[in-house]
Amino acid sequence: MWTNWSGGRECRPTATVRPLDDSGVSGVVRRAAQRGQAVRPVGAGHSFSALAVTDGVHVDLSAFSGITGSGGRPGRPTVRVRAGTTLAQLHAELADRDLALEAPLELAAPTVGGALAVGMHGSGSSLGSLSAAVVGVRLVDGRGRLRDVAAADLDAARTSLGALGVLLEAELAVVPAGRVRVTREPRPVDEVLDAQFWASHPVVEAAVFPSARTALTRWVDPLPEHAPESEDEDADGAEKAEKEERERTVGVTVAGATGRTALGGAVVVERALPRLVPRFNRAVSRLARTVTATGPMHRVLSSPPAVRFEQTEWALPRTTFLEGARELLTALADDGLEVGLPVRLRVGAPESGWLHPAHGRPTGWVAVRVPRGTDHAPVLERAWRVLRAHGGRPHWASRSDWTVEDTVAAYPRLPDFRRVRDDYDPDRVFATPALDAVLGD
Ligand SMILES: Cc1cc2nc3c(=O)[nH]c(=O)nc-3n(C[C@H](O)[C@H](O)[C@H](O)COP(=O)(O)OP(=O)(O)OC[C@H]3O[C@@H](n4cnc5c(N)ncnc54)[C@H](O)[C@@H]3O)c2cc1C
Repeated sequence: MWTNWSGGRECRPTATVRPLDDSGVSGVVRRAAQRGQAVRPVGAGHSFSALAVTDGVHVDLSAFSGITGSGGRPGRPTVRVRAGTTLAQLHAELADRDLALEAPLELAAPTVGGALAVGMHGSGSSLGSLSAAVVGVRLVDGRGRLRDVAAADLDAARTSLGALGVLLEAELAVVPAGRVRVTREPRPVDEVLDAQFWASHPVVEAAVFPSARTALTRWVDPLPEHAPESEDEDADGAEKAEKEERERTVGVTVAGATGRTALGGAVVVERALPRLVPRFNRAVSRLARTVTATGPMHRVLSSPPAVRFEQTEWALPRTTFLEGARELLTALADDGLEVGLPVRLRVGAPESGWLHPAHGRPTGWVAVRVPRGTDHAPVLERAWRVLRAHGGRPHWASRSDWTVEDTVAAYPRLPDFRRVRDDYDPDRVFATPALDAVLGD
């Protein structure tokens, strides 16, 4: 039995195979196609949607790990990385080469193949997702053929939902490694719901509880190459200090309750007392301490979640982002819906990927998270209604009620994607019910 990270999706594949090389993947696809079985590559299972679910063959790419080479030209370096590489490993191997990803991605476990398939993003007005860094893709198509995706089709392959084939390797544009300073600070919600806030730093985000007046914010600034060592705490120290501060403020110690990093991470409750949640949340929102830390971007942003949750995240046009976020917070508060975790707000640059939710428009991301063990349906359904009404497109990895009719209406380059899909997977070996539901057959 396979289960995703949140525990909300499971399936029983006919087989799970772990090929060791490119020809192994080709063989798996050919044999499955002959038997009429579906093939589904699977990464770390960190998607909340059913994209990785199959009753066919799961292809585990964990043997396809690591950076295999570098290239690019002076000032524009690239690396080739295998699809099963986790982001933690990618960050570490890049750091060994004095390189880094430009996208501020904070999660360790997702694989390059999975993160690209769904268009994994961080937060920054002019920063793209991991998909935006793709300059080349090698995959095994639905006939078992090894193919390097042509430049003209790259915008289909950079965010493909796994519909084109099993990605083996991607060439990614990277940047020189550098140190940054991250600042975490409470700010009035009204300030966060103003466009100026989002242009204030290269990496910036906020987390807001529906009825709170204070938002928890986090931003990142680059440090000059020879900046003197500062008084800042290092990343681990800052996280510890933040946790202690929250525990002191809240003044309660609940077994199983934990206050990890408020942004990105969790604030409350796994097994704990639901009635404490609102109190805890309000207290967290009143925190008055600024915490800074310096280090490489992936280290200072790292915030492993302390509780499991379900999530819906939508990409709104930047023009409706703040109005949509405000309306969502009001709707959740008015309906008395307890989210348990703050609504997370982030921004991103327009994406060229034909199926990336930020395709063609500056984007504001709105994520609603509900801890596992609570009834997530009323909260998520309320969020879908508001975010859809503001022109949102759901993150492919998140829970949503999105349909193929929505995709047709919201993605102008869908016909181009379908043309490439017909070429790469004419027999629909990689189709699943979840893919059919949003892409059609
Ligand atoms: C705690 C948590 C925090 C998160 N934070 C963020 C965030 O900050 N930003 C964000 O954008 N997302 C976030 N997500 C969602 C997450 O980015 C995606 O779920 C993740 O990137 C998917 O990677 P994975 O390896 O887990 O893929 P899986 O979930 O296993 O698979 C996802 C899709 O990718 C396909 N796939 C996997 N490998 C391949 C391959 N080799 N070739 C072709 N297709 C493949 C699968 O078939 C499936 O369709 C978060 C999720 C969690 C649980």
